[in-house]
Amino acid sequence: MLKGKVAIVTGGTRGIGLAIVKTYLENGAKVAIAGSRQETVDKALSELSEYKNSIMGICPNLCSPEEVDKAFASVKEKFGSLDILVNNAGISSRTSIYDYTLDEFTKIMDLNVKGVFVCAQSAAKIMKEQGGGVIINASSMVSIYGQPSGCGYPTSKFAVNGLTKSLARELAKDNIRVNAVAPGVTNTDMVAALPKELVNKISEEIPLGRVGEPTDVANAYLYLASDLASYVTGEVLQVDGAARA
Ligand code: NAD
Repeated sequence: MLKGKVAIVTGGTRGIGLAIVKTYLENGAKVAIAGSRQETVDKALSELSEYKNSIMGICPNLCSPEEVDKAFASVKEKFGSLDILVNNAGISSRTSIYDYTLDEFTKIMDLNVKGVFVCAQSAAKIMKEQGGGVIINASSMVSIYGQPSGCGYPTSKFAVNGLTKSLARELAKDNIRVNAVAPGVTNTDMVAALPKELVNKISEEIPLGRVGEPTDVANAYLYLASDLASYVTGEVLQVDGAARA
């Protein structure tokens, strides 16, 4: 579904990001993994050594336009184009408003919002010049319902939806589609570390009766990146088993 395409996946070293990287590789794309540390990028690259001619690693500070421009240009130089950007990197917290420090709030907004803005801007410049592309942002179920603690995280994901819908309208004329994926509870390291009884309880409250797997979410990223979604832009696609947290 992505033969001949080149993608960058931020936070592609583990969790949902790594599942997106694998899914894109399996579907014929060349992929650059953007991580925060060289050692985690190297670990992911070694796990995917069977695709060694189709992957590369980059490590820019996602909030630095200069570093991101340089890293994205290196991907275009190595693989010949930049067709898909997945803004997957994100952090969360469940701190109560009474304990929330400004530093913690700023840290979340920086990566989850400023990082998406910087990377989208950098990729859009390349995509416009080459005649089009696709940008997909990581939103969340909490961007629709909020959450009862840790207000910075849902705030950042509401902002991601705003960026997604606005950029979709602004960049449509340049043939760049912009969408978001809003997962529910997904079985990454964080969920795997929870006691089994708690995961069972969470699952019972989800109409589809289970938490999502990273591949469930990665398949939504595959659809939105592919030509099957050629007339879909400005959409926030919920992948949450109809959970209403
Ligand atoms: P994770 O914590 O397992 O992985 C996050 C990734 O982001 C890692 O690869 C990490 O290295 C990277 N990252 C963190 N800080 C970074 C930085 N400063 N620069 C570059 N990369 C950085 O997360 P996940 O659960 O796989 O979630 C991925 C995305 O999906 C996030 O945006 C998250 O908000 C969203 N999401 C996750 C869930 C869930 O249940 N797991 C639900 C809804 C939305």
